Amino acid sequence: MLYILMFRFWSVMICFSFFALPCSQASGQEIPIFDAHVHYSQPDWSIYPPEAILKLFDQAGVKWGAVSSTPDDGTVRLFEHAPDRIVPFLRPYRTRSDMSSWTQDLSILSYVEKRLQKGIYRGIGEFHLPADQAQSEVVKGFGRLALQYGIILYAHTDDAGVEGLLRSYPKVRILWAHAGMSAPPETVSRLLDKYSMLFVELSIRGDIASANQLDSKWKTLFLRHPDRFMVGSDTWITSRWESFVTIHENYRHWLNQLPREIAEKIAYKNGLRLIVKP
Ligand SMILES: [Zn+2]
Repeated sequence: MLYILMFRFWSVMICFSFFALPCSQASGQEIPIFDAHVHYSQPDWSIYPPEAILKLFDQAGVKWGAVSSTPDDGTVRLFEHAPDRIVPFLRPYRTRSDMSSWTQDLSILSYVEKRLQKGIYRGIGEFHLPADQAQSEVVKGFGRLALQYGIILYAHTDDAGVEGLLRSYPKVRILWAHAGMSAPPETVSRLLDKYSMLFVELSIRGDIASANQLDSKWKTLFLRHPDRFMVGSDTWITSRWESFVTIHENYRHWLNQLPREIAEKIAYKNGLRLIVKP
């Protein structure tokens, strides 16, 4: 009897000390998150220094973040602070005013081409793409650079825009921000069926869950394409950082309504596989 009690005591001690993460995962608790949509732009820097951002990551259970910023210095600063957790994307905007004109501005292409030589970036984006600009000279240049460096193009665009990219650059992995923001699950499903290089990020979608209950159409889509989705916060303005922990709590509510294996893929495994180690 004493032997059994001692054995149980040591099992529990080992579980809580050396193997804390596997034990908590085994009991169905917190899944680590790869946040595929983080911005760390200039207005954030004075309010949230890198230490504060990493503290928020820890509070939210976010282990990794795909980060871009305007200007790019914020991304580099965060990456240098935590290179094992920050996955840099190169946003092509030197200032916010580039946002509306970049597809027709060849100096953007030179800027991106030069900046990529740093060798730290896993993608170009997130960029805002009007649907009729998928074949502008600048975007063509991005397609060429994405192939050359083996990196992703990360686009905020509608279904016509993302299909334009997928058709124009069929060998490039395309990450679609916000699943097009308003594209219905039927459209997302059609595009995923048709294009194997399409991956989908899910931030700022009010239709995936309501009152924490996962929508049945989205659930069907996640079960059909478990390797193609990622979650993200989209800290596009500084005030979004105030909701950072809540945003990820809300993801966990509906992730927990999926089979564990699929929830883990969407929470972090797809991000690691597709972005960090493709
Ligand atoms: Zn964004």
